Amino acid sequence: MENRCGWIAQAGDSPLRDPLSGTQQADWLVIGAGITGLCAAHSLAEMHPQARIVVVDRQRAAQGASARNSGFVVAHEHPATSELQGNTGFAGFQVDTSISRAASDEVRKRIARHGIECDFRESGYFFAVSDPRKLTDVEAKIQTLRAVGASAQCLQGEQLNRKLGTRHYQAAIWCGNGNALLQPAKYVKGLLDALPEKVTLYENTEISGLQRMSNGRIRANGLHGCIEAKQVLVCLNAFVARSGIRDSSTFPMELSASLTRPLTDQEFDAIGAPEPWGVLSTRPLGATVRLTPDRRVMIRNTAEYRSHDLSLSELAIRRQHHVLGLQRRFPMLGAQDIQYTWTGHLSASRSGQAYFAKVQEGVFAVAGCNGSGVARGTLWGRLLAELASGVGSPLLQSVMERAQPGWLPPKPLLDIGAMLRMRVETARARTEI
Ligand SMILES: Cc1cc2nc3c(=O)[nH]c(=O)nc-3n(C[C@H](O)[C@H](O)[C@H](O)COP(=O)(O)OP(=O)(O)OC[C@H]3O[C@@H](n4cnc5c(N)ncnc54)[C@H](O)[C@@H]3O)c2cc1C
Repeated sequence: MENRCGWIAQAGDSPLRDPLSGTQQADWLVIGAGITGLCAAHSLAEMHPQARIVVVDRQRAAQGASARNSGFVVAHEHPATSELQGNTGFAGFQVDTSISRAASDEVRKRIARHGIECDFRESGYFFAVSDPRKLTDVEAKIQTLRAVGASAQCLQGEQLNRKLGTRHYQAAIWCGNGNALLQPAKYVKGLLDALPEKVTLYENTEISGLQRMSNGRIRANGLHGCIEAKQVLVCLNAFVARSGIRDSSTFPMELSASLTRPLTDQEFDAIGAPEPWGVLSTRPLGATVRLTPDRRVMIRNTAEYRSHDLSLSELAIRRQHHVLGLQRRFPMLGAQDIQYTWTGHLSASRSGQAYFAKVQEGVFAVAGCNGSGVARGTLWGRLLAELASGVGSPLLQSVMERAQPGWLPPKPLLDIGAMLRMRVETARARTEI
């Protein structure tokens, strides 16, 4: 059993960069080379063509969560009951959607600007359920989504089965106009490969903390060297605490996913030769599933709050969950058909909103993507670079106003509360994993 991400295996590696050694000087340091950090580096390079910009990552760049996610480009979230048109949360939903739509557009712009081949599809995707009781207020949700600019449509029974090639799902809202799908490892590798030459990247360089120097610069310490920079952008997502920022009110979650071999022509025809699709659950812990353009099935149906990373034997147990989820949808697929199984970390918050802040003079940070960091990370990278450069905009202001991740109790209360919440959510998602 290997922890090997199928998206990364298909995207291939970029040339290896050296780790940091000695003492380096920089105008700008970006810590973390995922979508957020790479987009921040691109924006800094665009805004400050003469500046020395350094990016570091503790592992290979572009191979963290940004490559390991499910590839949903989120412009429109599934609205909660409180957010339906006419309810008190609708105004907030409108603002959040305008940010998400801007974020989704930012992905299109990056793909076009850098010519990134990442199987980007403007197909929209489905909020689908196997138990129709898990999809409530359908008409009100469709009206709400349309009111904020989405295309939305309800599908049920045979019509839905034909679209997805499985009888598992009984009801869905298809939601388009901004919602899209892509191959995540190809997208983030495209961002990496397009970095201008003047941006220096150090890989396999873990930063263990930030220190203010007497001359006002900030020193970021690695194992075999350090970087002294005027300004630092911390783009560590689930690992933000490792930079010493401990009050972000976000917490890490570990998810796991599997990708099958491509379906044979016979299998594909037997399920009705559907177009590639993506399904999100209406429950936070329900499964995310995709049928990819090369006819593979991807399933992500575990998500857990953990203080230690999953071991390989624990991942093997998660893989059995993937097999069960696959068989519910495609009974002809079994454990032997899975080619890749992997884990990834995301950063969550209690309110579902991000942490996006000037931490102190010269230090800026973002975390708390809450599962929509493909689009939001792309936008946040640029906005964080703009905030640090003193460039304001109504969009930046709106992002900063919404950036209220919510209070978290201290440990061990947080651990206990999170475990209990996970149990409740797992029970609620029972029919949808
Ligand atoms: C399984 C899974 C499915 C998901 N599905 C979706 C989806 O469909 N759509 C969506 O929008 N979002 C999804 N997400 C969330 C999405 O992947 C993240 O929001 C997004 O990748 C965040 O990007 P980032 O650049 O902020 O963080 P990351 O990609 O996590 O990048 C942070 C980088 O920091 C590096 N790092 C960590 N510690 C240090 C250190 N001490 N020093 C130096 N570098 C360090 C890491 O190696 C990593 O490369 C999913 C996440 C997972 C795990």
